[in-house]
Amino acid sequence: MADHNKVERLAVLAEAVNGLTTSPLYAYRQENNYHSVFGEGNADADVLFIGEAPGEQEAKKGRPFVGASGKALDEMLESIGLARKDVYITNVVKDRPPDNRDPRPDEIELYTPFLVQQIDIIQPKVIATLGRFAMEFVLAQFGLVQEGQKISQLHGRPLETEAGYGRVTILPLYHPAVGLYNRGQRQTLEEDFQALQKFL
Ligand code: URA
Repeated sequence: MADHNKVERLAVLAEAVNGLTTSPLYAYRQENNYHSVFGEGNADADVLFIGEAPGEQEAKKGRPFVGASGKALDEMLESIGLARKDVYITNVVKDRPPDNRDPRPDEIELYTPFLVQQIDIIQPKVIATLGRFAMEFVLAQFGLVQEGQKISQLHGRPLETEAGYGRVTILPLYHPAVGLYNRGQRQTLEEDFQALQKFL
């Protein structure tokens, strides 16, 4: 059973994201009848996945990784014996950027305190970043010396660091979308996922 207090604190935070009328993405959300996408899963999860930003399917449903990338992520999870209910999944940016463009620095900055609080509430043992934006966010947030290095150098290599609540391992992974178009990258992602096994 997930810790009741964590579930409640996450729910309060989700409400705050939902009411974020100051977001540059708020008008776009309203115009399209989209939802904010706070994140979901086990509030006590050992593994927290962080993606980039919701796509169209995610914004329509208000849930992270439910489109094509989500299917790929589900398959990767299954390959190491995990289901979505075992982990927590969220994004750096919690509203869909128009036409799936990259999130802008001001958007990342606006949503940062929410992600920081999510991490502090969930207190994961492992933070697995999906793609460049999530990796850069986490490297900067934890002040890691690898900041500025490329995902092609860092993917699949666990990095040990310290969070406010204790030790945490950062595992940079490629975004599951890369595997949709490139078999080789899909295989790399599958191999990198295996690094999670030892934390389960
Ligand atoms: N890509 C992401 O980075 N996040 C999602 O939730 C969906 C697709």
